[in-house]
Amino acid sequence: MSSLYIHIPFCEHKCIYCDFYSVAPREIGERHESLIGGFLSALGKEIELRSADSRFQVKYSTVFFGGGTPSLLTPSNIGAVLELLNRKFSIQKNAEITLETNPGTVDLRKLEEFRRAGVNRLSFGVQSFHDDDLIFLTRIHSAVEAKESIMNAFRAGFENVSLDLIFSLPGQSLDRWESNLHQAMQLSPTHLSCYSLIVEPNTPLLRMVESKQVSPLPVEKDAELYEVTMEYLASRGYEQYEVSNFAKPGYRSLHNGNYWNHSNYLGFGPSAHSFWSEGGASHSSSRWWNISNVVEYGHRLERGKLPVQGEEQLSAQQLMEEEIFLGLRSDGIDVAGFRKKYERDFIVQHSSKIKDLLDENFAKLNGERLRLTSKGYLLCDEICSSFLA
Ligand code: SF4
Repeated sequence: MSSLYIHIPFCEHKCIYCDFYSVAPREIGERHESLIGGFLSALGKEIELRSADSRFQVKYSTVFFGGGTPSLLTPSNIGAVLELLNRKFSIQKNAEITLETNPGTVDLRKLEEFRRAGVNRLSFGVQSFHDDDLIFLTRIHSAVEAKESIMNAFRAGFENVSLDLIFSLPGQSLDRWESNLHQAMQLSPTHLSCYSLIVEPNTPLLRMVESKQVSPLPVEKDAELYEVTMEYLASRGYEQYEVSNFAKPGYRSLHNGNYWNHSNYLGFGPSAHSFWSEGGASHSSSRWWNISNVVEYGHRLERGKLPVQGEEQLSAQQLMEEEIFLGLRSDGIDVAGFRKKYERDFIVQHSSKIKDLLDENFAKLNGERLRLTSKGYLLCDEICSSFLA
């Protein structure tokens, strides 16, 4: 099944660690309403232009509003985008519709209205339940506000609620991280994404590290926190279905699952990526991405042009390598599907490497699915590289 992604390129404030494309209109001295209004009208034009291509008239099973901070928009803005998407594309009746939500931007009423607008899954960027961590990360909300927003989401009738948490903050102890997991459990989310803090290029955090204002946690400590996370969440009934993602049974993110299954997706909005394959390795497959500039994005669409900045055609070899990488990071490699698509036997081709992984308990082979174990997830990057070398 295919997916639609909408990138909302606005935030109240830019967090020190974030390298996603977004602008904070108030911080750059722009009028908030006019910038957002201009973007929404350009987004509508992009949706119209793309939908005119008959290749994209397939069934879509998920819509994901990411960013940026989609919850900065009003429920009627989100409702209008959903209404246009439904008019221009064929979206499954029970599709998963996710809204990334910053706890500092919503109250009970707004959450109820998002639900009425058609959103049925919320993904909250909480990051920590300790106020000093939130201040360090320059988040706009407190721990109490995050908890209140999540409880309000359930009160508003959402049953599928995900939380993002970040571990390996500078100086973070095991106790402090476990306290985050413990406080998350008290809110009973259906899904958790737990990411290690990455020092990304061109971020204030990188400059703080370079000037020795802060020191990243050592890699052994990072591995320890990650291992504890996997054990802790497994003991509370959360299935790990990707390196950083954990879900109660029946609540895996279908949208992210589609990315990891190599399904087709169309992305709209500045910096959004798209992937489209006409089926199988022998057909054309391409990836393209939009310009990462909201003003230029609007100008191009005003001129009736798609705001694409770059595109690459993917060879069968590239597709195969991506499939190995995505599969190992998530729910495993479907060996039968791989054989059908690429006319290669993954197990035979990599027999000695796979034997080592199985012997060392880094991977398990269940029927025709090769999947990493928790021990394997700890070394996921190295294992993926060894297959791609
Ligand atoms: S709110 Fe989210 S998207 Fe915006 S700057 Fe912070 S981390 Fe990045």
